[in-house]
Amino acid sequence: MSLKVMKFGGSSVGDPERMKRVASRIVETQRAGDQCVVVVSAMGDTTDDLIDLTKQISDVAPPAREMDMLLTTGEQVSVALLSMAIHSLGQSVVSYTGWQAGMYTEAVHGKARITDIQPKRIFDALEQGNVVIVAGFQGMTEDGEITTLGRGGSDTTAVALAAAIKADVCEIFTDVDGIYSTDPRVVKCARKLPEITYDEMLELANLGAAVLHPRAVEYAKNYNVLLVVRSSFNHNAGTNVKEEAAMEQGIVVRGIASDKNVARISILGVAEKPGQLAKVFTALAAAQIDVDIIVQSGVLNGLADFSFTVALSDKERAVRVLEGIQSEVGFREVTSQENLVKVSIVGAGMVSTPGVAAKMFEVISELGLSINMVSTSEIKTSCVIDSGRLNEVIQALHTAYGLDTDQQAFVGGPAERR
Ligand code: ASP
Ligand code: MG
Repeated sequence: MSLKVMKFGGSSVGDPERMKRVASRIVETQRAGDQCVVVVSAMGDTTDDLIDLTKQISDVAPPAREMDMLLTTGEQVSVALLSMAIHSLGQSVVSYTGWQAGMYTEAVHGKARITDIQPKRIFDALEQGNVVIVAGFQGMTEDGEITTLGRGGSDTTAVALAAAIKADVCEIFTDVDGIYSTDPRVVKCARKLPEITYDEMLELANLGAAVLHPRAVEYAKNYNVLLVVRSSFNHNAGTNVKEEAAMEQGIVVRGIASDKNVARISILGVAEKPGQLAKVFTALAAAQIDVDIIVQSGVLNGLADFSFTVALSDKERAVRVLEGIQSEVGFREVTSQENLVKVSIVGAGMVSTPGVAAKMFEVISELGLSINMVSTSEIKTSCVIDSGRLNEVIQALHTAYGLDTDQQAFVGGPAERR
C-alpha cells in the first residue's frame, strides 16, 4: 500500500464527463489498496473566465485580496464536484479547501508562498478510509486571509502536500503522456523521457515547458519528492522526475525548449568606468524588471556596448528606466528589438561532454541563421535568434542530438491552461 498525491489539472476535469472519468480512476487506485490525496485545479478555463469577469466590473485593477477571494472559488467548485462524482461510485470521500487542509502561506495576495502545512485533518480522514480531495492553488495566512499561489499553482499545492504527508509519490496528471524531449506539438517524433532530473526539469520549466510549474519542481527538489508526470487520458507510464536520472546510451541533451517572450535591449556608447553595469542593473531591478542574458561587446575608444534580454512585456518599461538614467550613466543611446526567440538545450550530461554547445552553433549556422546572443550554465546552452524559423531550428537540433524517435507522440485533450 502506498500513499499517493494525485494532481489533476484544469483540462483533466474540464467538463462533467472528464470529471467522472477522473473519479473512476481515483476510486480504482484507492480500491487497489493505495491511499489517495487528490489535488485539483479549477475546471477548464474557469480561472481565466473569472479574471475576465473582473474586467467587466471595473477598469481599475481589483484589490488583490478580493481577487484571491474570487479566484479560489474555481478550485472549490472542482473539489466539491469531484467529491460528488467519487461519492456516487460508492467510495467514501471528503473535500477540503486549502485552509481546511492546513495550507498556510505568507501574507501576499496573488503569488503567496507556502509557509507551513498542518495535515492533521487529512491524516484523520485517510485513517477513516476516505479519499481526500484538496483544492489546489490556495491557502490561508496566519491571520485567516485567503491567498493564492500564482497561476499554475496547483502543481505546487500537490508537491508541497506530498512533502508534508511524506507521500511515496506525487503524480501530476495532465493531457500529455509525460515530459518530452521537446514540445510534441512542434516535433512529431519527440521522445518521451522515462526519467529526468530535478535540475533539468527546473531549467525546462523556467524556459517555458508548461507541463510543470517551476516552483513545484523547486519544491520537489528541496524535499526530494518523487514526481511522476503522466496522462489522465491513458495508463501509460509517464516520466519520473527525480534527483538522478539515467542517460540513454549516446544521448547528452535531454530536452530542447524555446521561449518567445524575449526582447533585446542594447545600450550603446557607454563610457567605460567602474560601476556602470551596477548602476544600470540596479535601476532595472528597482523597477522589478528581470534581466536574463547579458552581453558586453568590445570597448572602442573608451566606449562599450551592452545588450541584455528582458520579457517582451517589460521592454517598454526597461527602455524608459534606462532613458531615465542616461545622463547619470552617460551613454549614447538605447535601442531595442523584438521578434526574437531563445532556444535552449538542456542536459545534465553536458557537464562532462565537450562539444555540445559547438554542435548547437553549427546546426543553427547550417540553417543560415545568425546567433544574436548566447548564454550557458552547467547543464544548459541558450541562443537568442530571430523568431522566424523557430520550429525548423528545434527540429534540426532534435535530430542532431539524436533525439528523434520513430513513434508519434500522444497528445491527448486540449492544452493545459496556465
Ligand atoms: N486554476 C489556477 C490557474 O489556472 C491554478 C492551476 O490551474 O494550477 O492558474
Ligand atoms: Mg494548471
